[in-house]
Amino acid sequence: MLTLGLDIGSTSCKAVVLRDGCKILAETVIPLGTGTVGARQAFDGALAEAGIGFDAIGRTCVTGYGRFTFKEADEQKSELSCHAKGMHFVYPDARTIIDIGGQDVKVLSLGKNGALANFVMNDKCAAGTGRFLDVMARVLNVKVEELGDLDAQAQEVVSISSTCTVFAESEVISKLSSNVRIPDLTAGIHASVAKRVAGLVFRAGLVEKVAMSGGVALNKGVVRALKKELKTDILVHPDCQLTGALGAALYAFDDLPGGKKPA
Ligand code: ADP
Repeated sequence: MLTLGLDIGSTSCKAVVLRDGCKILAETVIPLGTGTVGARQAFDGALAEAGIGFDAIGRTCVTGYGRFTFKEADEQKSELSCHAKGMHFVYPDARTIIDIGGQDVKVLSLGKNGALANFVMNDKCAAGTGRFLDVMARVLNVKVEELGDLDAQAQEVVSISSTCTVFAESEVISKLSSNVRIPDLTAGIHASVAKRVAGLVFRAGLVEKVAMSGGVALNKGVVRALKKELKTDILVHPDCQLTGALGAALYAFDDLPGGKKPA
């Protein structure tokens, strides 16, 4: 039986088609957030990649910041529940999940069975989020996808003292004008994100193993800086940006008529 999970985020829309609650048949990431055509494109894209029509899907579940805007789904679930479920599926031993998306940071504490025991979130400020990195990449005149490689070329970490995105942007511009190397500045930007996120992890309580989800987990520089700050290894799955959609597809499977009910 096929199920579909859709994650309508602030910055991107993701969809996963799952067979029998265990095998990923197709997955799509559209770099458009809620309030755009991103959700429809992710949904249709995943069906096209799986080579099936909507009729072949037994049940759909939608999650993410923009979930209330997508009326066609059979059910809606919170991002916290879906990230917990998706991450427990890919890393059953993970107890601390750091999810950094386009506009928020969440730290989830999971029990041995994958149930959500506790969570901590950033306040409304963009510091430590994907938005902060997107702004910094624009100032550095590079793509956000390039930040990880730039960080790897750093010879030193140029620290950024402002946490506020607007002030940090001015600070980076001023450092650029005094000829600081872009890789060193990039490492400083990542260190600033890591410090901010580590504060949330310590508030939630660090229990190993630690894993990361969300689009920012694709940035190897942030992962490197966070490992250093937390003094622990961090698991990053290649599908890290899709785990919310995966969790939604797993919920849709559990909730199929006659399907497996959650424990
Ligand atoms: P949301 O679910 O809130 O829409 P995502 O989990 O998709 O957010 O994360 C979006 C963020 O991930 C972007 O703001 C960007 O900083 C980062 N990101 C996305 N793709 C990449 C990539 N290939 N490399 C590095 N960072 C990325």
